[in-house]
Amino acid sequence: MKRLSIKVKITIWYTLLMLLMAALLLVFLGLVSGTVSTQTSMTQLDQTLRGNLRQVDMADGSLQLGEDFAFYDNGVYTLVYSQSESLLAGQVPVGFTANEPFQNGLTRPVSVGSARYYVLDFWVPLGWDNGVWVRGILEAPENPQLLTNLMLIALIVMPLLIVLAALGGYLIARRAFLPLDQITSTAAAINEAADLSRRVDIPPGHNEFSRLALTFNHMFAHLERLFDAEQQFTADASHELRTPVSVIKSACEYAERYGETPEEQRETLSMIHRQADKMTALIGQLLSITRLDQGTDMAHRERVDLSELVQSICREQTYSPQRLLPEVEPGITARVDTALLTRLLQNLIDNGFKYGKEGGHVWVSLRREADEIQLTVRDDGIGIPKEQQEKIWQRFYQVDPSRSGDRGGAGLGLSMVQKIAQAHGGTMSLESIVGLGSTFTLHLPADPPPETI
Ligand code: ADP
Repeated sequence: MKRLSIKVKITIWYTLLMLLMAALLLVFLGLVSGTVSTQTSMTQLDQTLRGNLRQVDMADGSLQLGEDFAFYDNGVYTLVYSQSESLLAGQVPVGFTANEPFQNGLTRPVSVGSARYYVLDFWVPLGWDNGVWVRGILEAPENPQLLTNLMLIALIVMPLLIVLAALGGYLIARRAFLPLDQITSTAAAINEAADLSRRVDIPPGHNEFSRLALTFNHMFAHLERLFDAEQQFTADASHELRTPVSVIKSACEYAERYGETPEEQRETLSMIHRQADKMTALIGQLLSITRLDQGTDMAHRERVDLSELVQSICREQTYSPQRLLPEVEPGITARVDTALLTRLLQNLIDNGFKYGKEGGHVWVSLRREADEIQLTVRDDGIGIPKEQQEKIWQRFYQVDPSRSGDRGGAGLGLSMVQKIAQAHGGTMSLESIVGLGSTFTLHLPADPPPETI
């Protein structure tokens, strides 16, 4: 059997609940109306009989009934009996065959067959030793009107109302669940088409469904990023590794054919070694960039003394201290990944020298400006033409491939620099004039002052 949807379950549940409530309400009303109808009949009997009592009198030793005495009024039969309980006036209702003993002032129900009566007697003393019994008999209505009406309502209107409520409820539930259906079908479509760029429509309002849709979209965006990064890595790696691999291959072929002397073989081997080193470096760089792309390389951010870190990186450089000139403001701390930040600064310093003039300089400065930390690497090198300045951040982009290639670059350094900056919530900026030099700056959001943390 097909499993019931939540909509149907909800509808069935509250329809049953409504049925139960309606039944309970009817039972309750039936009971109340029964009591009310008994009470009404008794009051009716009592009042009519008391009205008649006032009309009973004795004149000249015989019973006198006033003008307003009614033998039948308001459904009440009034009868007058002698002291010896023989009927003097009035008519017993046809069906009332019970031999009911007289009881003064007590209204009681009397059943005769299926009929029900209320009987009330009053002893009316007339003179010293005489008196009469005045009896009132009221036939209880078989089915009180209120109850009959209620039953009618219950039989005709209630089922109609319940069907209406079930239908309305189902429609409302269906409408409420519509976003969920949409989310499900979009997710299924994304899955079928393997198209991670598609997104689920966010339902209006801020509720469980919109949050669910938003979470789904975040998940798809994350998956898409991972997927793209993986594809990019595969494409970049195969493209970039092709060159050193073909160099190695042709070197091997050359050695096989012509490498007769140990000298020639050593030369070939060292060429293969160089290419292998290049490949190792390249694979390392590609992996780092991919990890940064995927956001998986940001696990180790911790508060460090940035001034100390920059100083020590500059100290460890093999470049001459006359050419590498640090200007570091002391006591600047930040939450950074030490290894990544070291790589960022190293890439910028290397580029400063790589694209510098003969005997040129590189200045590294760290300072705090308002609410940001600025790490700047400036050189007096060849500079970058204005129209190229946007492009140098792209993977594998090189202004002059022959010049960079000579220096062992593959156009990945700045792309990595930018990703590291972004991974720290920062940005990179560049100012450069051809022939005069370039200034690369990392802008990091500064921590708030310690007392507000
Ligand atoms: P690579 O140095 O490996 O070629 P990068 O991503 O580090 O790759 O740099 C991209 C390009 O930007 C370089 O090829 C070079 O043309 C240019 N470039 C980078 N840094 C500088 C600099 N300090 N001065 C001039 N040009 C630079």
